[in-house]
Amino acid sequence: MDTETLRRGMILTAGPSITTREIEHVMEAVTYGWNSRHSEFIRTFQEAFAAYIGTKYAMCTSSCTGALHLSLAGLGIKPGDEILVPEITWVASGFAPTYVGAKPVFVDIEPDTWCMSPESIVRHITPKTRAIMPVHLYGHPCDMDAIMEIARQYKLFVIEDAAPSAGSSWNGRKTGSFGDASAFSFQGAKIMVSGEGGMFCTNDVDLYKKAQYLNDYAVDSNKSFWVEEIGYKFRMSNIQAALGLAQLKRLDELVERKRTIFGWYQERLGNTAGIALSAERPQARNNYWMPSLVLNDAIKMEVGEFRAKLKELMVDTRPFFYPMSSLPMFSSQEADNPVAFGLWRRGVNLPSGHNLAEDDIDYICQSIHRVLGHDSRSRAKPQFTGPIARLIQEKNRSASDALQVPFMGADNQQASLQMMTYGHLADPATMQRIQQWRTGPADNFVTASTLLRDCGPNWLEKDILDVKDRALFWVMDHRGQKIGHLGISTFSLSMQRYEIDNIACEQSTAAVTLMTNAIDALVTWVREELHANECYIRVLHDDQAGMRAIQSLNFSEIQRVPLKLVDVGNGAQWRELVVDPYTPVRHYLVTFGPRSSKA
Ligand SMILES: *Cc1c(COP(=O)(O)O)cnc(C)c1O
Repeated sequence: MDTETLRRGMILTAGPSITTREIEHVMEAVTYGWNSRHSEFIRTFQEAFAAYIGTKYAMCTSSCTGALHLSLAGLGIKPGDEILVPEITWVASGFAPTYVGAKPVFVDIEPDTWCMSPESIVRHITPKTRAIMPVHLYGHPCDMDAIMEIARQYKLFVIEDAAPSAGSSWNGRKTGSFGDASAFSFQGAKIMVSGEGGMFCTNDVDLYKKAQYLNDYAVDSNKSFWVEEIGYKFRMSNIQAALGLAQLKRLDELVERKRTIFGWYQERLGNTAGIALSAERPQARNNYWMPSLVLNDAIKMEVGEFRAKLKELMVDTRPFFYPMSSLPMFSSQEADNPVAFGLWRRGVNLPSGHNLAEDDIDYICQSIHRVLGHDSRSRAKPQFTGPIARLIQEKNRSASDALQVPFMGADNQQASLQMMTYGHLADPATMQRIQQWRTGPADNFVTASTLLRDCGPNWLEKDILDVKDRALFWVMDHRGQKIGHLGISTFSLSMQRYEIDNIACEQSTAAVTLMTNAIDALVTWVREELHANECYIRVLHDDQAGMRAIQSLNFSEIQRVPLKLVDVGNGAQWRELVVDPYTPVRHYLVTFGPRSSKA
């Protein structure tokens, strides 16, 4: 793992946005939401959700899958009935009909939106067809004008699987408001989350009452505990509803963020030959829950290899769903859905968690271009160069006129930071120094110690000097002796956050003291020259002296991640220790930040 990838950690495909608003709602629910107030959040959430979507009724459920099941049961779908479901969707859409004994019949999708094709729906209608289940895949709405027209003509029910599409709309109307019933998901990877959870929506009062009754074990409301038929229990807790309500209040903002993230992808990948990105039809407003791409035939690489190579660069992705009729339980169906079968092997969902910033997307897109073997200079968008790179270009041309930042040591003697340049690569004595500091004993002052086995000229060139937005400074004492080094890199360009990294020095009290002053000087420089809002520090183990030194500079500890050392064949790497709670931990990745300004 090079320092660049370590700096970022694995970029995951999804992740919610949780603020104090969510935390406060949940605290209130868990503290007071009992006894006479046991369903307050549930009722408020249901009413607010119905109002947002534009349906008369909404009922919280434990999942979207549960809501789909209740929709079908409530509409009286029974064994022998056929339900039209798109060939490409999550298995829940295909499973739900089977829960009431019906048969899902898979129809083809459209090449641009990847949603079910109205033309294919018509082709698959038989005398047994009772309902259409449009799925607003990855957030793009289905062509609801065409689908509602077909349903009217053939007298079919419409049950929208709106699991991924909270906040999306078609011709100005929210998805989930068109059909006889609709189902949403608030599972943890969706655009709004309640942990697990879902919502059943409808405009039909009888269906609403039927679904409520079925969701309460079909208990007879006039006769305590008397039950006439088999019911279900797919209910949501008040605590989850509190979280869901807070997310609903922020849903427009969450959609905006997803749209911004997609925009960043579009800028960087939109004109790339061989890549088709998520679409947005003129009638549609896509919530871009999962920005995705399809590799066209122009690109010979298999998606499996493409994803594996991205993963090596710490970018996690997901493949498209398998065609439903290729799964064992549905394989007896003879599917003639050429678009779906052509697309699924070529589709990839890209990372789009709410926590991602523009420079993360930039890194992901650079990695995609790299994996596809594109020459970085010929790309439409030039390689990301941020403020550090610009500063280096302006001020730093060779070792002799390298950028200098003077500062005062604790002994009141003048010391300085000096930016490393390509000129330093040629000096073996210098390189040997770095090696000593970086591979020294682990109790050295916040050194990366055994982080990097290879920290010779190759590392300095490829991982520091060649990287556009990072720099490494020598720390020089008053005699001009190099006693350590200190790095700076962009943590989030859009938020103007920087990270101090690569802290390593000689083992002596004087050096450690000077390093503390050097960090202080670098933070000040970053604030003044790069107009930083915030500075972070990451260290690789929890050496107490080093931690105290950083805390004395007003950095507050915000995160401590246990690490283990693994052998990956070409050298040891630090990996996050997630699975094994029994391994004794000696090394942590500690994040400090942001630094509070001194009074
Ligand atoms: C997420 C998803 C589901 C399942 O939602 P749950 O709440 O986990 O049951 C169903 N259909 C589609 C299209 C989905 O994306």
